[in-house]
Amino acid sequence: MKAEIIAVGTELLLGQIMNSNAQFLSQELAALGIDVYFQTVVGDNMQRLKQAIHTAEDRADLIIFTGGLGPTQDDLTKDALAEVLDRSLHIDRMAMDHVERFFKERSRPMTENNRKQALSIDGATPLPNETGLAIGNAISQGGKHYVVLPGPPSEMKPMFFSQAKPWIMQQVLTGEMPIYSKMLKFAGIGESALETELMDLIEGQNDPTIAPYAKEGEVTIRLSTKAASELEAMKKLESVENQIKDRLPNHMYASEDQPIEKVLIDMMTEQGLTMGAAESCTGGLLMQGITSIPGSASVFKGGIVCYSNEMKEKLLNVPHDMLEGENAPGAVSAETARVLAEQVRMITDADYGLSITGVAGPGYSERKPVGLVYLGLSERGGETVTYELNLKGNRQTIRKRSANTILYYLWLKLKARGGERKENHEQ
Ligand code: ATP
Repeated sequence: MKAEIIAVGTELLLGQIMNSNAQFLSQELAALGIDVYFQTVVGDNMQRLKQAIHTAEDRADLIIFTGGLGPTQDDLTKDALAEVLDRSLHIDRMAMDHVERFFKERSRPMTENNRKQALSIDGATPLPNETGLAIGNAISQGGKHYVVLPGPPSEMKPMFFSQAKPWIMQQVLTGEMPIYSKMLKFAGIGESALETELMDLIEGQNDPTIAPYAKEGEVTIRLSTKAASELEAMKKLESVENQIKDRLPNHMYASEDQPIEKVLIDMMTEQGLTMGAAESCTGGLLMQGITSIPGSASVFKGGIVCYSNEMKEKLLNVPHDMLEGENAPGAVSAETARVLAEQVRMITDADYGLSITGVAGPGYSERKPVGLVYLGLSERGGETVTYELNLKGNRQTIRKRSANTILYYLWLKLKARGGERKENHEQ
């Protein structure tokens, strides 16, 4: 099964918006076992849109459109597809009711062009829009399948999950065994090191398939298999998952798609532990990641962004002569990372204190190279450990990887602690 995505919108061609819909759809189609060979972007122009549809028909079985379903003159997707399929458009009653209700509830006058959002291609399955007004369409003709989705991601994604995906599974993938996937998440290891560790498994892969990919300093593996039942699929997936876990027990932190912050918060909640953080070069990025997880309040006590030396001294009691002076270690040093971690742990009265201080670039600081970062991890009743990182990349990558790495070290610590607790329990 080959698919093509056609993203419609002149603003995409002008570079005003990113084509994130194509990225999302490609990932979702891959998870369904559908190959996306082409992604097309076309402006709001009838002729070129019809040309793009004809081209896609020559090379794909399933064509998915996003964008161009709005009320204005330049929203042409359904008109263009209707012309290519030689069908007419009609007002879908349910969608029209939805549009009318929307304006009534807000006491706003409905203009004539809003009716356009309720248009449906004759013979197509209407795809209701739960978060917006324009309905989508799904239709098969001449052995080809067409799915029309809105442009705004907040409308497109729910419509994909609740309407388009089930339609594709029922109408397009009939007779094919469903595909099941599992995400494995890794920390503290790069994509190439992970591939090297698993080379023989990846090369010998057939069923399940093993697909590693890296994103924002995180490495993920997607395992996929086709099977007649979920039970059969899970057996196959778990067998490969266990082999991978056995090889990388200190790196694989989850067997579902969740961030390391979530795993840490669950572990700490279970163990009744708390943490605090002091951040310099990451400016709150670490705390932002932690607090974006619901339930973090019972674990995360708080923290301090101590960007300047002045704040490191005033708020976190880093000695002046540690920060400044000819022979001082400086703000970017293991010594400072240690004090920051210990002080923030004491100030927040937490079980763990985390710290990050480094040079995110682009310019050097304290004559230290870009990418030099020190992390500190202080434990109540335990030792404080510091780590030196020499990271590559731009400012944002260095900051993100610094935050990810201290989370990784904390995860290792908690994992060991969990193991110890278990042993004590069993004794
Ligand atoms: P509307 O009813 O809002 O007009 P529409 O279905 O006609 O929706 P467009 O007008 O093409 O969609 O785009 C509306 C907005 O949706 C864009 O301004 C953009 O913010 C977002 N959008 C459209 N296409 C994409 C895309 N391919 N990737 C990411 N965002 C997109």
